[in-house]
Amino acid sequence: MTGAVRDETPRNRTGGCACGSVRYRVDGPMKQVIACHCSICRRQTSHFLAFTAAWTDQLSVTGADRIAWYRSSETSRRGFCSDCGSFLFFETDGAEKVSISAGSLDDDTGFRLVAHIHVDDKSGYYQIADDAARWPQGGDDVPMPPRDA
Ligand SMILES: [Zn+2]
Ligand SMILES: [Zn+2]
Repeated sequence: MTGAVRDETPRNRTGGCACGSVRYRVDGPMKQVIACHCSICRRQTSHFLAFTAAWTDQLSVTGADRIAWYRSSETSRRGFCSDCGSFLFFETDGAEKVSISAGSLDDDTGFRLVAHIHVDDKSGYYQIADDAARWPQGGDDVPMPPRDA
């Protein structure tokens, strides 16, 4: 290690739901954390949803039969533990990446909240007080890290 400040890409993390029925492992790099303030995330989490993402083919899940899927739009679905209700995954049909609840990580060192999306939809009872990027609607310009060679 040099003394230079570097943004390491978090990788090879594990996580799971609150009750332990669903566990996952990512064998590869993971995206930095985005906070979504849209109405679906608000309702599903009680506040806002903080999520990272991984390449779908680098994610392995145990207890997948315990995941219930909620189709949250015509093109996307959200997976949560059917035993304890923990939100875990968000997938867009046909996408090569899967969003993963940041709160479900066993080890979140190296992660940083870098953007807020759907800020126009956020609840009025809190303020966004950090200096992360803010996007009025969906979308962000935070790239997926390249797959490991
Ligand atoms: Zn659970
Ligand atoms: Zn959302």
